Amino acid sequence: MKITFHNTGYCKQLEALAISGGRWRQQAFPGIFAIMEHPVLGPVLFDTGYSPRFLEATKRLPYALYRWTTPVTLAGERSAAEHVQAAGYSPREVKHIIVSHFHADHVCGLRDFPEATFICSQQAYEAVQPLNGFAAVKKAFLPELLPPDFAKRTRWIEQSNQVELPAKYAPFHSGYDLFNDGSVTAIRLSGHAADQFGLLLQGDTGQELLLGADASWSEAAVRDNRPPHALASIVFDNRAEFKETFDRLVELKRRNPELQQIFTHCEETWKRCIAWQGAGA
Ligand SMILES: [Zn+2]
Repeated sequence: MKITFHNTGYCKQLEALAISGGRWRQQAFPGIFAIMEHPVLGPVLFDTGYSPRFLEATKRLPYALYRWTTPVTLAGERSAAEHVQAAGYSPREVKHIIVSHFHADHVCGLRDFPEATFICSQQAYEAVQPLNGFAAVKKAFLPELLPPDFAKRTRWIEQSNQVELPAKYAPFHSGYDLFNDGSVTAIRLSGHAADQFGLLLQGDTGQELLLGADASWSEAAVRDNRPPHALASIVFDNRAEFKETFDRLVELKRRNPELQQIFTHCEETWKRCIAWQGAGA
């Protein structure tokens, strides 16, 4: 399956929060999403990154607090819908969008895909759905980014076929076969957000990938076992679960270095994607 990665904008945050031993200075973190070209289902998206809707949704208090604490630049970057068009598809051709979690920087593009079914965790959705105002901002959730008919257009990950994973993915042992064909397996990466999910899949060159969403903010943090600074855990849904998931990713990397772990906000990943895909990525 052909898989391409696309950047939708940058947010600024202290590097030292994202990785232990990092510098205490602002760093730009990309907001990447993936287009998977499924042979039967057509383009399937994993998250949708930022879009100009983010600026609209954070115009007024209390939602503006999100933008003040995590400044975002969209300049020069395309939205998910524009990337889909550049890849040769109409947004209406996107029938499936897998949502890793409901932080605003992953769901800004959802409203631009009117024909899509959303595949997400029921528990994750139920954790954010009742929230608005300050309670929503505290969870990095901006309710107006979700289409009004979101729940009606959703298929729950937890209701997909549960499968045992091959030993090469240990210490992850089970996942959900999202399309009943083995092409995309969702695995639970809880902690950063409640019931966050990542994906295991294979690129068209045979390269195996783990799309890890925000379970780490960089490849290097997992590779060198440098978890985020304790201060960063303020934004986590569950600090202990985050650490447990992070430790399992470190162990997976140690046992299976060939498996590429890709994280939404990793600049190193993004530079490699540009090299793979060319400047139009
Ligand atoms: Zn997040």
